[in-house]
Amino acid sequence: MEANQFREFGKEMIDYVAGYLENIRDRRVLPTVEPGYLRPLIPETAPEKPDKWEDIMKDIERVVMPGVTHWHSPRFHAYYPTANSYPAIVADILSGAIACIGFTWISSPACTELEVVMMDWLGKMLALPEPFLACSGGKGGGVIQGTASEATLVALLGAKARAICTGKAEHPEMSDADIVAKLVGYTSSQSHSSVERAGLLGGIKLRSLQPDDSNKLTGEILEKAVQEDIEAGLIPFYAVCTLGTTSSCTFDNLEEMGPVCNQYNIWLHIDAAYAGSAFICPEYRYLMKGIERADSFNFNPHKWLLINFDCSAMWLKDPSWLVNAFNVDPLYLKHEQQGSAPDYRHWQIPLGRRFRALKIWFVLRLYGIENLQAHIRKQIAMAHHFEALVRSDERFEITQEVTMGLVCFRLTGSNEMNEQFLKRLNGKGVIHLVPSKIRDTYFLRLAICSKQTEMSDIDVSWKEVKETADEILAKK
Ligand code: PLP
Repeated sequence: MEANQFREFGKEMIDYVAGYLENIRDRRVLPTVEPGYLRPLIPETAPEKPDKWEDIMKDIERVVMPGVTHWHSPRFHAYYPTANSYPAIVADILSGAIACIGFTWISSPACTELEVVMMDWLGKMLALPEPFLACSGGKGGGVIQGTASEATLVALLGAKARAICTGKAEHPEMSDADIVAKLVGYTSSQSHSSVERAGLLGGIKLRSLQPDDSNKLTGEILEKAVQEDIEAGLIPFYAVCTLGTTSSCTFDNLEEMGPVCNQYNIWLHIDAAYAGSAFICPEYRYLMKGIERADSFNFNPHKWLLINFDCSAMWLKDPSWLVNAFNVDPLYLKHEQQGSAPDYRHWQIPLGRRFRALKIWFVLRLYGIENLQAHIRKQIAMAHHFEALVRSDERFEITQEVTMGLVCFRLTGSNEMNEQFLKRLNGKGVIHLVPSKIRDTYFLRLAICSKQTEMSDIDVSWKEVKETADEILAKK
């Protein structure tokens, strides 16, 4: 494809994308296709001779769209949001054109340097303590990871490197393997499944602690487990505090967990994948009280801050633990400026990395902090609107406190009835929700996801919920 054809194809695609997002409300949120629907719609082998781009355009509606779940429909309420905005889409086009792989500073200086500054911009927007920011002139700094799962694993590996180093200083007779065999980390049974996976991938024991009655991990619960393990001859080294759990958007008690971690030299990692975006609004920062005690902090702008996937923002007070843990230094990756700017390859698992800082830059500049705050506040207000509607109907109950853009609710009655209720609700295809279960209680999660969602959409979603409840209860 030559430049002139690219111009035509690109312009046509931009028009298509704008139309798709503008009119997404009119599409059924969940597709009706069956597994295997796609194969018969396209040839069995790649074309010998080139197709025309116009034919590809025609195939989007014929082949792709029938099988798309429309995550940006205002009626999509499943999981948590995944961000989407025009400035981020445009930035990704530029990133695709530059197509550099920014693993070291010299491999594309702008890629690294814009990332360093954007992580400072974002960190300041969240009022992160100075030691996390590169501009503080200390050791700390931020990095864009692909996902929160990677950030949790990378933090665990940094903690493991630190624990091996301290362990050997205290017990020179012990080998690395002896120390690793004694390491134990802590998480809550309400943490995201990626935390458990980080333990498996990192080859260390992670204890899944039972949180308190309001589903929060507390300092007391953590300290009790730590003391038990020390008595058993183990070495506590890592703990994850979740700010905004996946099931119910509950906040662990960071203020209590921090001092325990500091006292026992445990690396404290904060997973604020979804809720972290809300900390750009000062009124929600009470939920991150105690953050100065953490070693690493992560949230996903790709969830709630209008920056398209993938963009997971991670800060570390002392990245040297990672840099040392992951430092393999072949000659072909060395460069003369080594040490004067971060070589991000040492801060992550893969070598390659895209120019993702562009989309942060575009979004922050074209929205401004003010409009991003307005976006978060509007979505939380809509969650409270839905909560009020649920509370106004005595057939329902709210199962968790609503703090952010997630409402957890159920029909008062058995789990089985609620399962049938959700199946029927999703089956109609107008709205889409997913369930969760805590302590054997099955409930529905309604997340405010799309940037386009308005109060009137919430009323439509509530109408669906209410009418489906009428049907289910009439059958009883
Ligand atoms: N942590 C929490 C609290 C989450 O809610 C999620 C996903 O919803 C994750 C981690 C995983 O995020 P990612 O897909 O970026 O790994």
